[in-house]
Amino acid sequence: MATKRDYYEVLGIDKNASADDIKKAYRKMAIKYHPDKNPDDPSAEEKFKEAAEAYDVLSDAQKKARYDQFGHQGLGGNGGFGGYGGGPSMEDIFSQFGDIFGDESPFGSFFGRSTGGQRQRVRRGSDLRIKLKLNLQEVANGVEKKIKVKRHVTCTTCGGNGSKNGTAVTTCQTCNGTGQVRKVVNTMLGQMVSTNTCPTCNGEGKQVTDRCDTCFGEGRLLQEDVIPIKIPAGVAEGVQLSVSGKGNVPPRGGVAGDLLILIEEEEDEELKRDGTNIVFDLYVNFADAALGTSVEVPTIDGRARITLEPGTQSGKILRLKGKGIKELNGYGRGDQLVHVNVWTPRTLSSDERALLERLRSAPNFLPKPNKNEKGFFEKMKDFFHG
Ligand SMILES: [Zn+2]
Ligand SMILES: [Zn+2]
Repeated sequence: MATKRDYYEVLGIDKNASADDIKKAYRKMAIKYHPDKNPDDPSAEEKFKEAAEAYDVLSDAQKKARYDQFGHQGLGGNGGFGGYGGGPSMEDIFSQFGDIFGDESPFGSFFGRSTGGQRQRVRRGSDLRIKLKLNLQEVANGVEKKIKVKRHVTCTTCGGNGSKNGTAVTTCQTCNGTGQVRKVVNTMLGQMVSTNTCPTCNGEGKQVTDRCDTCFGEGRLLQEDVIPIKIPAGVAEGVQLSVSGKGNVPPRGGVAGDLLILIEEEEDEELKRDGTNIVFDLYVNFADAALGTSVEVPTIDGRARITLEPGTQSGKILRLKGKGIKELNGYGRGDQLVHVNVWTPRTLSSDERALLERLRSAPNFLPKPNKNEKGFFEKMKDFFHG
């Protein structure tokens, strides 16, 4: 390994420099020697890396202390950036820039787009979005579904690279494999080189010369896929679930996006949802309410029989414990609330009329609500707020 220069000398600072001075000095060097700004000077890249390495050590209190005491030997001969040998990669350096330049610098995005960074980034395919309608039973108990989706999957003939039988692809001639083309622009800080995505290869840096017959060089195929998904109990309209890696794969290699499932609730004709509770309106005739009876009501788990005590008042709410919807977090379950409505006849035959006329002034037919009788307001308070 060639003799290393002193890190303080590299950044042009003295040993007593503060953390802030070190940062400022490095920013200056990074701007001056950025490879995009010095496309025709190979030594600039070396200086750029040298400065990055110096900064990596001097900005880290522990590494700095070791370096101050033992010099380059103290760092195991490799300098900064952890385990690499032979200098930092451009990716390492660019990943530092968020800290160094932040948002205040006009260089932020400029550096971010730079050659080294983008070429190494793993390309990710697009997400797939579907809507899924669930009925109340499915919402209440959770459900497993097999969903058919059309998605881009990796072509198995070429293994996804798009070339015939998966043979090697050639480096793009336009950009020499960098995926970027450079353009000189004038800025207030002088002449800078801006980089744009290569129009020949769309930034991939590679070109397929002999195309795969199966996918025509795309590296992927659109096909119908059946994806099993498990919907947890307690989801609600508007909830979005995601299945990682079940979206589209990008053209010519990369990782698949996600499958995003937007939940829609199908309205039930009889049972209404209120959070984790189910509300059912039961209509009984006056005789049943007065004499007491046993009736069947629908629930999410089939029908259930309930008993109405003699003298049941209209507006009474009966609770079927645990017959509601499971909590999304898996703990507990709501109830079904049966709301009793005493039905008043809308039309009467002459016989019925005569019967009711006789009852009209019967002593027990006079309303006599006692103190225990709860009005609508108290009932709501009881049932919905504990
Ligand atoms: Zn193919
Ligand atoms: Zn290219």
